[in-house]
Amino acid sequence: MKKLVLASSNPGKLRELSALLDESRYKIIPQADFNVPEVAETGTTFVENAIIKARHAAQYTGLAALADDSGIVIDALNGEPGVHSARFSGSDASDESNNILLVERLRSVPEAQRSARYQAVIVYMRNAADPSPIICEGSWEGIMVLEAKGSGGFGYDPYFYLPDYGCTSAELSADEKNRISHRGQALRLLLEKLP
Ligand code: IMP
Repeated sequence: MKKLVLASSNPGKLRELSALLDESRYKIIPQADFNVPEVAETGTTFVENAIIKARHAAQYTGLAALADDSGIVIDALNGEPGVHSARFSGSDASDESNNILLVERLRSVPEAQRSARYQAVIVYMRNAADPSPIICEGSWEGIMVLEAKGSGGFGYDPYFYLPDYGCTSAELSADEKNRISHRGQALRLLLEKLP
């Protein structure tokens, strides 16, 4: 089994990615197992940040690396929080403080204008100097709501409403979310392209 380092320390993401990769032919090791320190995400796009994280983990461990950079893009907030989704409410943000700020910023926006999407970019780098990383994207449309519903998923899920399903992404089972989410879409595309 080929070993890959997973360049993420976000427990929600690790749970979802590990479940999705469970039946693949790769042995996925979270970067925390190698004490890989966090790297500054200085890019202005999901692609740049995913490459920064994958390159850092590959450099640190000497293994091929997989990284996900993702976030929520809210039209009424001109695309915010976007690449700043994890730290929307400041440097020591939590899911809770991010969601409090989100509701505050959207309170005066009518529901019809609260369209949003989760975006994910997943990158595979064979090594830290890989000049042509494999890059795959996924996108998942929804509407932001002002009242939390559901306890699954993580991050903004209790406020991300899916009209086709009549529930938020926090009300989906873990398997259902992985089947349709931005991250599930991107990872499945990547798995088709991996060596
Ligand atoms: P990253 O670790 O810099 O890629 O930041 C990702 C952030 O985007 C997370 O911390 C969440 O705030 C948000 N996010 C990305 N994907 C999801 C998801 O599937 N559900 C909820 N929030 C998400």
